[in-house]
Amino acid sequence: MPTEINDTRRFEIEEAGTIRQALEQLDRTGQGLLLLVDRDRRLLRTISDGDIRRMLLSGSDLDTALASMGDQKPKLMAVGHTASDALRTMNEESIDHLPVVDENRRVVSIVTRKDVTPILLSTPHLGEFEQEYVAEAFRTNWIAPLGPNVDAFEREIAEYVGVSHAAAMSSGTAALHVALRLLDVAPGDIVFCSSFTFIASASPIIYQGAQPVFIDSERESWNMSPRALSRAMKEHAAKGKLPKAVIVVHLYGQTADLQAIQAICDEYEVPLVEDAAESLGGTYQGRMSGSFGRLSVFSFNGNKIITTSGGGMLVSDDEALIRRARFLSTQAREPAPHYEHTMIGYNYRMSNVLAGIGRGQLRVLDTRIAERRALFERYRRELAEFDVLEWMPEPEGTRSNRWLTAATIRRDVGISSVEVLGQLAKQNIEGRPLWKPMHLQPIFKDASFYPHEPDDRVSDDLFTRGVCLPSGSNMGIDNQRRVIDALARVFSVARAG
Ligand SMILES: *Cc1c(COP(=O)(O)O)cnc(C)c1O
Repeated sequence: MPTEINDTRRFEIEEAGTIRQALEQLDRTGQGLLLLVDRDRRLLRTISDGDIRRMLLSGSDLDTALASMGDQKPKLMAVGHTASDALRTMNEESIDHLPVVDENRRVVSIVTRKDVTPILLSTPHLGEFEQEYVAEAFRTNWIAPLGPNVDAFEREIAEYVGVSHAAAMSSGTAALHVALRLLDVAPGDIVFCSSFTFIASASPIIYQGAQPVFIDSERESWNMSPRALSRAMKEHAAKGKLPKAVIVVHLYGQTADLQAIQAICDEYEVPLVEDAAESLGGTYQGRMSGSFGRLSVFSFNGNKIITTSGGGMLVSDDEALIRRARFLSTQAREPAPHYEHTMIGYNYRMSNVLAGIGRGQLRVLDTRIAERRALFERYRRELAEFDVLEWMPEPEGTRSNRWLTAATIRRDVGISSVEVLGQLAKQNIEGRPLWKPMHLQPIFKDASFYPHEPDDRVSDDLFTRGVCLPSGSNMGIDNQRRVIDALARVFSVARAG
């Protein structure tokens, strides 16, 4: 049940009560709603401000008894209703409150609209500067793609991350595609990629006609297992078929074990690409994620920690690579007065308007990280007593941006992630499973996969038991309370059973 009003007595009034008393009581409770009940406190009807107004207009006076109001079939919910049911009824009836009654028709609580409004996983959270930058683009008519906001956004991201160069792209996926093209990934090539990720990490391998080989996770960071990577390198080196690149993903804001992974890549002289789409502002040994790879990628999609509604960034310390990235992503147009082409490129650049949103968002990024980390800590603290969730780890020497609060459900509590997410959904709370690993995806059923250990598939296990909780930096403490209360109810039942 949602976190509704439980002290319902103060809303109750009997039929002998007068309009004056009802008005006084409405004034005290301040919700615009009273419950007309009989001697046994059984609900007869609801009384709103509007009902009283209509009585007075039709000739009643302040001393008229409420008994003369006439009947109404009150809209109500039974105990055990879901938030989705309640919200649907409120919308159908254009009301903001619903009494909840027990089997004797006594009101046990009142649900208000804010108790049942959907809580989403992660929504855009704008600051106060975006509109200035966008307005600047309008004022100077830089609506065409590219322009001063793009240049500035590239400089500002590069500076924030601690790399020398950046190229703004239309999406993180586009940035990753250009990265692989820059590394000459071509048909017949192999690319190693974290298996535990969103498909956009792997799709560009296919765009280039290459073959992905998926690498499992380790438990310490939930990200790429150095042990699995090492085994995969050794086997491929023995076959004389090393990968053209390694794509390491930093999930939910947490960096992978970059030192170990970098060392393996260096040993075999394979370039490392960081998919830092989810980890902007997360650090590894004091350095920003995205500053380790030969090329690294960020995303500003709508659900990410900062957003341009859609967008991405490719960064590198290699100026030549980034210059070439800009060339490839503007249709590979050669410098000539006419349109001259010696190869095929893409239309992948970010627009000047959207870069303006990005500049504003970047200014609040550190606050957003602090807010998301605080959400994570509150979930962890307030749900600790149930001992049901195992939180996504943050290995020593790393700092996650906690883009999403992620956890797994302990094996011994007899409740599945599907059940937990189902219970949240009934309360209009959007949780999600963790990413389904790529080696389990039907589209990649023929791809090879290197588990953490031959008999230990870490990402399969994380996927089976994992959940992401609502983590928007703008969700507010009341909404987080609702999620925590909903989980607490599910966990108490599970623990008792
Ligand atoms: C969001 C995301 C991407 C893709 O970014 P888009 O901007 O949506 O194209 C790539 N990899 C990971 C891990 C992501 O979460």
